[in-house]
Amino acid sequence: MSGRNLLSMILSAALPLLGCAPQSSRDEAAAARATMVTQQIAGRGIRDPRVLEAMRTVPRHRFVPESWADAAYSDQPLPIGFGQTISQPYIVALMTELAQPGPGDKALEIGTGSGYQAAVLARLVKQVVTIEIVEPLGREAAGRLAALGVDNVTVRIGDGYQGWKEEAPYDIILVTAAPEQVPQALLDQLAPGGRLVLPVGPAGGIQNLRVIGKALSGEVTTRELLPVRFVPMVPSP
Ligand code: SAH
Repeated sequence: MSGRNLLSMILSAALPLLGCAPQSSRDEAAAARATMVTQQIAGRGIRDPRVLEAMRTVPRHRFVPESWADAAYSDQPLPIGFGQTISQPYIVALMTELAQPGPGDKALEIGTGSGYQAAVLARLVKQVVTIEIVEPLGREAAGRLAALGVDNVTVRIGDGYQGWKEEAPYDIILVTAAPEQVPQALLDQLAPGGRLVLPVGPAGGIQNLRVIGKALSGEVTTRELLPVRFVPMVPSP
């Protein structure tokens, strides 16, 4: 082989790799998300096409610490610092579907954590307010959401037991840390026709995922869905 041919072979092998590295890692993440949705989410019965699309789109690997990025699309919760976790993808999808997000809805999330659940909701509703009690987590999440161009989420630092009265009522309230009782302020801030989805139960134990509906008449109904394990909502009232 002539030196020239060898050089052109090396170049043609090297250029696509060099030129396309960012593109190919984006493709890899998209492929990992597609597999995640097929196996862990659609495969377990989540049907809402808008929820499936949001789970296929939001870059979960950008919401976990870099050291965990390789595990971002695996079937488990992951640590995000301060003793907190980003929920397992299936639980995020399930809670989102149970909340029946509509394009005109206003949503409140308690427990911003990494901001991932808020980013998923943001694709499905008009506006999201999310409250985080650990200030550095909330600040980091706000920065991450801004960097990703998510512009319909407001991160508030505060105690989620009080909800966020200024923006109430909410069509959807999702709580991603477990209180021992349903916080009354959240029930009060739920719009007629709204859905409150939350785990309820003892800290460090097994909680139950509940869906609480408020009818247009104001009547409240509760469904218990399945046992779950969330980090506790703090401080206990
Ligand atoms: N939804 C998050 C994961 C939440 S982990 C995500 O998608 O990454 C639970 C979060 O709830 C933690 O960040 C924790 O600090 C927060 N939290 C606990 N008690 C709270 C309270 N009383 N008010 C607001 N946030 C609270």
